[in-house]
Amino acid sequence: MDLIALTGKILAYGEVCDHCLGRMVGKRSFGLSNDQRGNALRVSYALAVNEPFLPHQGTCWICQDLFLQVGEWAGRVEAAFEGIEFETFLIGTRVPPLMAESEEMVWSDLSLTSPEPLKSEMNREVGKAVGQILGKEADLTNPDVLAILDLSTGEVGIQVNPLFFYGRYRKLERGIPQTHWDCRVCRGAGCERCNFTGKMYQDSVEELIGRPAVDLFSAKGAVLHGAGREDIDARMIGTGRPFVMEIVAPARRTVDLQVLQETINRSAVGRVEVSLERWTRRGEVETIKSDKMYKKYRILVEIQDPLSLHELRSALEALKGVTIYQRTPQRVAHRRADKIRERHATEITYHGREQDGYVIEVTGEAGLYIKELISGDNGRTRPSLTEILGRPAQVSRLDVVQVESTREE
Ligand SMILES: [Zn+2]
Ligand SMILES: [Zn+2]
Repeated sequence: MDLIALTGKILAYGEVCDHCLGRMVGKRSFGLSNDQRGNALRVSYALAVNEPFLPHQGTCWICQDLFLQVGEWAGRVEAAFEGIEFETFLIGTRVPPLMAESEEMVWSDLSLTSPEPLKSEMNREVGKAVGQILGKEADLTNPDVLAILDLSTGEVGIQVNPLFFYGRYRKLERGIPQTHWDCRVCRGAGCERCNFTGKMYQDSVEELIGRPAVDLFSAKGAVLHGAGREDIDARMIGTGRPFVMEIVAPARRTVDLQVLQETINRSAVGRVEVSLERWTRRGEVETIKSDKMYKKYRILVEIQDPLSLHELRSALEALKGVTIYQRTPQRVAHRRADKIRERHATEITYHGREQDGYVIEVTGEAGLYIKELISGDNGRTRPSLTEILGRPAQVSRLDVVQVESTREE
């Protein structure tokens, strides 16, 4: 169908505005905006059929002359963005079903191949207007903030996208969980057991890092994504554990990482310490969580005496590098699937004697259960130090001293 005939058919549906007319052939772009193209089609049609040119009059049956309100919508967006710091933004539009169905009916009746939906023109036009008012840029792929225009209610909804930064944390105090735990009794609602905090533990690594961050970013929350986790009673020292922190809905985005690091370290002093390396993106959360890290532990092991050092050293030697079969430990069996894993301890070295035990360093693959490697977990881990020595051995103190990626950098 040529454009003249097509224009005649579209005009026959009823009074339509230049925007909606132009969008029907929107993607056959002629370097014109939709309304310019709509107007040109209307002029060409009048000439071709030898009728007087009539501009759009009355109300457009598709959009109710929505595009006359672009400036007004831009003003509402500006007001909704008030108080939020951002560089890039994106506009989205929620189109009432009736409006979308109207234009879709024309597309399908006339088998149009390249119409542009009303939604995308509205997003673009309001985006241009907002960009001019605020001197900021629209960003289609990774905007700082999003404004959603709800055409039915006239309201603008705001979504502030999260920020992510990458660093390492050291946990210097035992008894701090990595992330917030809901109270077991009330499941977070607050009860006598938890002193109405809703929490099992007063603090977590996540909160110790997150609280000062939430303040600095004027954010709604902070979520810690760690490269694995240590037991609650283990310290995480040495090189520290890699993590990505997600700052939820920050009203401020221009925070200096050095200042942030100092603020966190001051507020969590003696408990948690961070070194913040760089900003990152959501994609790294998945990478860091799925990365197979090897870990080095320093443990204090209690072993029933008498034991000769020679005996201990050769037992450690016997554990090094061999396949260790570990059935899911009893202590985590209630929350993990019962299965047998094969793991290795690539390095085990004796580091000296303390009053209440032997200091041993173990480097293990991701997922090696270190306490069970020593205790044997009633035969669920084999071989174990207990099994080889033929007498009970157990970990009485555990520190993680190194967490490193096995990925090629
Ligand atoms: Zn229209
Ligand atoms: Zn409770």
